[in-house]
Formats: sequence, structure tokens, C-alpha cells
Amino acid sequence: MKKLIFVFFLGFLHVYVVAQTKKTVVKKHVEYLASDKLQGRNVGTKGIEKAATYIERYFKKNKVKPFFSSYRDTLGNLRKVAFNVVGVVPGTDEELKNEYVVIGAHYDHIGFKKEANSQDSIANGANDDASGTAAVLEFAKYFSKKHTNKRSIIFVLFTAEEMGLLGSEYFADRLREQNVNVYCMLNFEMIGVPMKGDAMSYVTGYDMSNIAEVINKKADTKLAGFLPTAKKYQLFKRSDNFSFYSVFAVPSHTFSTFDFTNFDHYHGVNDEADQMDYLHMTQFINQFIPAITYVCNETANVVKLK
Ligand SMILES: [Zn+2]
Repeated sequence: MKKLIFVFFLGFLHVYVVAQTKKTVVKKHVEYLASDKLQGRNVGTKGIEKAATYIERYFKKNKVKPFFSSYRDTLGNLRKVAFNVVGVVPGTDEELKNEYVVIGAHYDHIGFKKEANSQDSIANGANDDASGTAAVLEFAKYFSKKHTNKRSIIFVLFTAEEMGLLGSEYFADRLREQNVNVYCMLNFEMIGVPMKGDAMSYVTGYDMSNIAEVINKKADTKLAGFLPTAKKYQLFKRSDNFSFYSVFAVPSHTFSTFDFTNFDHYHGVNDEADQMDYLHMTQFINQFIPAITYVCNETANVVKLK
């Protein structure tokens, strides 16, 4: 009996460990990516190179495979050396593995910035978008370890978002050239501070597809809501999800908790790691996991444009 109990215990432990990400881990990602050492992660700098290396190592450590021959997808639409970092967790279903769910965030930021009345000149980009990058790293770890996703999942950290969505444009075009069947794209931007209201986050392009409905179906709380300000400013077109909508015409959305009232440091030198709410971020990530699982595993074509 002793051995059996031990085996049960290990099984339980495995499920428990795989199911949750921890606040300490999330915090560690953001603290590194938004540290002064990385100097605002501007494209073509040593700082962003360090961020890319960090992401690659995390993918490798957690057995997330490179999508291409290496993790780096070097842009051909830019003079400076810039690359997306791309991993994949292949699907387990013979048919559905040919459909790809793309999960992304951008890891670049704007570098240095001059601000009146401040000695600080580094725009660290903790919320924008080290927070989304941390979420994608934790999703990648979870799905790699669990490995029950029927559809294949691409985990991509984009470069040159701040230069006009250049990284995602390049990557979406490459996927189209290789005839990759993209099922949907879920992007994560500025999730470091909780928003007010009844939903955990809002989704851009809310009425363009049924994604909010699908995401909320498997969650305990309302994960994806509607933010009128997001519609007013057309945020749907202002992050990397838009490149996938343009190229593939499939549901492609950004999830965010930045509601224009809860964070004063957008593109400023005070967008720092110590401004993030790590309990909120950890809950956000853990609550999104069952929703993403549903999107990746539901056999019927559940996610649809309206
Ligand atoms: Zn951003």
C-alpha cells in the first residue's frame, strides 16, 4: 500500500504543480525584464538582447520547442537587428494539431526617455509589456508541462511592437507563407495592474468575434469584458493582434487590464517593476489557463468571427 499511496501523492503533486503559477515566479520575470540593466528594451540594443536570451532560456528550461530551427525569428522588414522569440507546444490530436492557437505579447519597449523633473531616464516598460511577456512565459511553461492541448500552440514574444507592430507583421506573413493554419490569436498587453469594474480584463475588438463569450465560459469569474474607452481609441488596431487579423482574418484579440484610469506611467520612466500588482497578475494568469485550455481543446469550431 505504501508504494501506491506514494504514487497517488506524486500524481496529485504533479497536477498541483502544473496547475498553478506563483507570484514569486511572475515577479521574477518582470523584475528582470524591467530592470535598469535592460535599459528599456529598445530594438537593436544590448538590453533587448538580454531580454531575448532570458526568454529563450525559459523556453528551453521548460521544454518549449523552437518553432523555427532556432527560437529567433529575425525580421527582414527592419534595418536594425531585431527578432521575435518563438516557441511551440505541438497539439496531441491527429487532426486538430494542424490548427494553431497563437499566444503572444511584445517584449520590446521604448528605451530611454527625457522627462521634466526626473533624474531617471530609462523607460523600463514593466506594465508595457513585461507584464504580458511574463504571462506568455507562464502559459508556455504550463502547456508544455501539461501537454494535453489538442491544437498546437505557438508562444511568441514580439519585437518592434513599439515601432508600429513590425515584429508581428513579419511573423504573421511568415506563417502565411508556410501555410500555417491559424485558428485564433490571443495577445496580452499591460496586465500588471487590476482594472475597476466587474471583469478581470477587457478584450479589444470585443464585438468582432465571440471570444469573450468563449473565454468566460470556462472561468469562475468574468475574465473578459468590454471597455468603451478601448473601442473609442480603437485599441484593436494598436497591438500585435491586429497583424493576425489583417493577414488571416481569424479572431485575433488583445486582453488587457490597463483601463486609462488605473496607471499613470504609460510610456514613462516610472513604469517600473515595483508598480505592478503581482497578486493580481498571478490570479490573472491562473484564471486564464482553463479558458485557453478550452480554446485549444474544444473539438467544434467554437471561436468565430461575428
Ligand atoms: Zn504595449
